[in-house]
Amino acid sequence: MFQKLLSPKPSLRYNKWILSNLHYRLYSTSDQADIVVIGSGPGGYVAAIKAAQLGMKTVCVEKNPTLGGTCLNVGCIPSKALLNNSHYYHMAHSGDLAERGIETDGVKLNLEKLMGQKSKAVSALTGGIAQLFKKNKITWVKGHGKITGANQVTAIKDDGSTEVVNTKNILIATGSEVTPFPGIEVDEDRIVSSTGALSLKEVPKRLIIIGAGVIGLELGSVWSRLGSEVTAVEFLPFIGGAAIDGEVAKSLQKILTKQGLSFKLGNKVTGAQKDGSVIKINIEDAKDSSKTETLECDVLLVCVGRRPYTENLGLEDVGIEKDQKGRIPVNSVFQTVVPNIYAIGDCIHGPMLAHKAEDEGIICMEGIQGGPVHIDYNCVPSVIYTHPEVGWVGKSEEALKSEGVDFKIGKFPYMANSRAKTNNETDGFVKVLADKATDRILGTHIIGPSAGELINEAVLAQEYGASCEDIARVCHAHPTCAEALKEANTSAYCGKTINF
Ligand SMILES: Cc1cc2nc3c(=O)[nH]c(=O)nc-3n(C[C@H](O)[C@H](O)[C@H](O)COP(=O)(O)OP(=O)(O)OC[C@H]3O[C@@H](n4cnc5c(N)ncnc54)[C@H](O)[C@@H]3O)c2cc1C
Repeated sequence: MFQKLLSPKPSLRYNKWILSNLHYRLYSTSDQADIVVIGSGPGGYVAAIKAAQLGMKTVCVEKNPTLGGTCLNVGCIPSKALLNNSHYYHMAHSGDLAERGIETDGVKLNLEKLMGQKSKAVSALTGGIAQLFKKNKITWVKGHGKITGANQVTAIKDDGSTEVVNTKNILIATGSEVTPFPGIEVDEDRIVSSTGALSLKEVPKRLIIIGAGVIGLELGSVWSRLGSEVTAVEFLPFIGGAAIDGEVAKSLQKILTKQGLSFKLGNKVTGAQKDGSVIKINIEDAKDSSKTETLECDVLLVCVGRRPYTENLGLEDVGIEKDQKGRIPVNSVFQTVVPNIYAIGDCIHGPMLAHKAEDEGIICMEGIQGGPVHIDYNCVPSVIYTHPEVGWVGKSEEALKSEGVDFKIGKFPYMANSRAKTNNETDGFVKVLADKATDRILGTHIIGPSAGELINEAVLAQEYGASCEDIARVCHAHPTCAEALKEANTSAYCGKTINF
């Protein structure tokens, strides 16, 4: 190629073509990348930037037309945009603002505009990653990445053409996809997954959700605030997913019920059929199959979790076998059985969360350069962005009991927190679980205003092995909701609080 460039009298058109394809050519033939990242979700794009910052020649293969993966395109970001703006609408519409002395007449919902604001946030952020790739000199190869050798990834383009990238290392960050519900076909119109529920064209009169986990509760809150009658059917006897603290789950259910959501807990869905404009859902008691019921709705949201996505990745060809849950097995430095092929994020073990994928991406790249690799999954926080928010880190009360740990509890209600009272947002509490003998914090569970922000202080404390006394003795600004965290730790440490 270079010889042709230097050969006498190449045509102007040929030279222009060569110049515009130079970048592509450099990676696609003899030049080897240091790392090819497959997937540009929070795991992949963050890993790619870190790799480039560490001096690696980095290529990212992404099949979607935009970067950012599930999180930015159909996950964290669009759902939080809808949660935020539906909350404003609900405050204005439900009379909450009027109670604060802000009277608004004729409040109307403009769903198209609300969706437009969501799309704007998504485009700004996905476009931002493209800019970051440019800034860090990361080559984005568009196409479906397939591992065609321990040192080779082939990108299959939409038009069927291929581009081969040779590389020293490969990072699989292909994420996850919606878990299908056997026998119920998602059409993303009336029977939707979380993806369809982020873009409904009108507010359904009745919405049924299969699954009252984190995503189900968030999307249920959105549509309930916008005017739907929302019912969530859940197999477990509690809401919020398997890892939530039982006391927090009960409190959240009470608050959401007050907001208008209904729950059918301990029930399993056995089938769903479209019947004209109605969808009929058959459910039965999880403990007694003779107790059945048929529910009706206009839109059905199937929200039973996500599963690793490793479709047509070529894993088998290089000898990588998936585990029973379809995940890619990796060791403590994220190496698969092929030492120069690594995997991170939703397609491996651990919680399916964006920040977990990001952290893994960073330490995996540092590890390739010889740095230490350490992540404590017990210190990965979880947040439910309902109103109020729920945030937790570490062990729940139920988990500690089942492990036989001798622990103590410190609690503080938001009702006694000056900032929460000032803002008229007093639902919820902070609950701290600590080792009885050493005072070391084992878990923090918050339901209340700004729980999603506040939990980060608890994560920091737990990550550094802090005791309840440590937090209790740190000066916290007044008036803030963070004082509730300090008071809960004070309660755990010395058995007494100041303001309650
Ligand atoms: C509605 C919803 C709300 C959520 N909210 C939150 C939240 O608030 N906070 C949170 O932490 N998590 C949230 N999550 C979960 C979060 O989105 C995921 O945990 C996170 O995106 C996982 O990151 P990842 O990089 O592992 O994979 P992904 O984000 O899934 O990205 C994988 C990327 O790889 C690409 N890809 C796959 N295979 C190939 C291939 N062979 N070749 C090329 N490209 C490929 C995909 O197109 C995709 O872009 C939410 C998820 C959903 C669905």
